[in-house]
Amino acid sequence: MASIKILSENLINQIAAGEVIERPGSVVKELVENSIDAGADNIIIEVKNGGKTFIKVSDNGCGMLREDLELSIERHATSKICEEADLWKIKTMGFRGEALPSIASISKLTIKSRKKTEVSGSQIDVNGGEILMVKDAGMSPGTQVEVFNLFFNTPVRQKYLKQDSTELSHISSLVSSLALANPNISFKLAHNEKIIFDLPKTTNFISRISDIFGKSTADAMIPVFYGGSEFAIDGFIGKPLLSRATSQHQYFFVNGRYVQNFLLANIIKSAYHSLLMEDKKPVFTINIKIDPALVDVNVHPRKLEVRFEDQQRLSEVMYGCVKTSLGKCVLMPKGFTESHNYKAGFGSASMKSGIASAGRTGNVQDAIKFSQEILSRNILVDRDAGDLNEITENVGIKSITQIADSYIVAEDANGLVLIDQHAAHERIRYE
Ligand code: ADP
Ligand code: MG
Repeated sequence: MASIKILSENLINQIAAGEVIERPGSVVKELVENSIDAGADNIIIEVKNGGKTFIKVSDNGCGMLREDLELSIERHATSKICEEADLWKIKTMGFRGEALPSIASISKLTIKSRKKTEVSGSQIDVNGGEILMVKDAGMSPGTQVEVFNLFFNTPVRQKYLKQDSTELSHISSLVSSLALANPNISFKLAHNEKIIFDLPKTTNFISRISDIFGKSTADAMIPVFYGGSEFAIDGFIGKPLLSRATSQHQYFFVNGRYVQNFLLANIIKSAYHSLLMEDKKPVFTINIKIDPALVDVNVHPRKLEVRFEDQQRLSEVMYGCVKTSLGKCVLMPKGFTESHNYKAGFGSASMKSGIASAGRTGNVQDAIKFSQEILSRNILVDRDAGDLNEITENVGIKSITQIADSYIVAEDANGLVLIDQHAAHERIRYE
């Protein structure tokens, strides 16, 4: 007897779910993306127990007819593409027709939907991929998807779920990124009936940033902009003081899709040059609008990565526009560079050698004078504003020396202050 068998449709869906649906957050992502594709401008996400027992996404989008509702949970059934050529110019978030059947196969799912043109809606109930019932449902236009007990029939997957708080944090960061990508849509997220986000729709990107991350973060963001024929870039980058140890607050959106791109993230970091410490990462939310034919979005199971036809050109432009924006932003107190000519002590020769040149003009005293200037003028690169104020109040430096011809060592009330002369010099020249 032959040993190879064709797998059942439901088993195929469960296998696909393994790639697409990693955790409750993935369900939220897929459902919200469907709402965005449906043209909704109001999306409400309600979850319970970190999304493990209940996830509901309601929207006021285009809705579905009863026939479409039944088709929506079929594998490879989509309204978003219909021929091969469409695959190379995707404008929607979804296109594989995989999410709803995958979710349906590993949960108890109810979808209610109504088109504006219909007098009432329809409802479909599915249990582990099996349709239980299709019936009429009274509702306002739009779609509501409810997912109960995710992974109830795949206990191995269930075992890998983390604590509710961890699953919730994945959900909130996914909703934040979707909300950042779509300021024109209002988003509400509630967990165990407690509101986590309630973001009104806005035409102003910075007010969405402020609503998500707080006003002080928004105030420390600098706009970036590039308008070209092949692609356009707009968004905000954080001033160096906002930089982080992780890349958690680095957002790229390509035609409204949140994507990860380590290459571009590194390019942006390199544009900050010595404004950032080696181990710090800049904060940014950047939108790239590009002809869909010049980017392949079909390269990652959860659509988290894209491939650009000309990544090199995009990298160059990104570098330039981040650098220009940083240059325009006044990062240092006014008058600092005009009133002090540091050339004597920190000229270009030192730049080339990579070694600070206090020694060149003779002695450590120059370095000391310079470090006092730095301390008294709040321009230390990597300390937050609170610290800087403390430093100015305590400029009394107790002992100072210079090591390896490169570093100024000082002590203030808080402890040791180490200044990389080379980086400080570059910073002054930069400013
Ligand atoms: P995809 O998004 O890749 O097309 P899905 O499985 O996520 O695949 O959804 C299948 C289809 O169901 C979509 O193509 C769309 O026609 C319909 N659909 C899903 N969610 C919604 C919604 N919230 N509003 C309207 N239609 C929806
Ligand atoms: Mg989808």
